[in-house]
Amino acid sequence: MDSVTYPNRLLAILPRKDRDRLITRCQEVTLAVGDLLCSPGERIRHAHFPLAGIASLVVPVDTHAGLHVELVGTEGMIGVPLVLGATTATLQGCVQHSGVSLRLTAAALRRELKMSRSLREMLNRYTFVLRTQLAETAACNSFHPLEARLARWLLMMLDRSHSTEFHLTHELLGKMLGVRRVGITNAAGALQKHGLVQYSRGDIKVLDRAGLEKLSCACYRSAKDTYRRILNGRTQQSKRRTKTVRRLP
Ligand SMILES: [Zn+2]
Repeated sequence: MDSVTYPNRLLAILPRKDRDRLITRCQEVTLAVGDLLCSPGERIRHAHFPLAGIASLVVPVDTHAGLHVELVGTEGMIGVPLVLGATTATLQGCVQHSGVSLRLTAAALRRELKMSRSLREMLNRYTFVLRTQLAETAACNSFHPLEARLARWLLMMLDRSHSTEFHLTHELLGKMLGVRRVGITNAAGALQKHGLVQYSRGDIKVLDRAGLEKLSCACYRSAKDTYRRILNGRTQQSKRRTKTVRRLP
């Protein structure tokens, strides 16, 4: 499988040799809704590279159910603390949309990081992107209107589910947006009234993606631009450098 079509975008960035070796260390596992891939205070046993499906990163808040701060799908990985040398999770990784991932043990990832400079560089860059997105989510929750934030989360789900229809209960949306049920009802009602979505008992159908993008706060576009600039930009640089080296006598 070549780098253009590989389903996980981070693995797609790797040189084929490094990607093939990493994949032989992985096990393909099913992701079911509600599965916990990591839990705060517990040892991180595996890293996951989703090939399909979505997990959310949740920060615990006192005795509350927690606030969802990021969605990770085929564009990312679960287990970033391992890249930084940490062994214990501080965020919960919970599957929201079923799928499949390539899973490798923490020890295997550490070995691969030592062997592959490309893997190290790529995951360092992904860590930077994720850190930036988490900071933006914190600012977004404080400063941007609820309807704009709801539009942003729906676009993130849309991108990662590769479908215009998905299931998100009021309770889950409340954890994503950090607001009570009535706030979600009002915001979802407003989006429906504008003809952007159809929402019934947690089933969401996106009717007007362009309209959602227009309503969303700038955080959605900013996160996509950061990912493209830091990760995809690197791919192009690497390819150009490789071509230059090949022309040398
Ligand atoms: Zn925002």
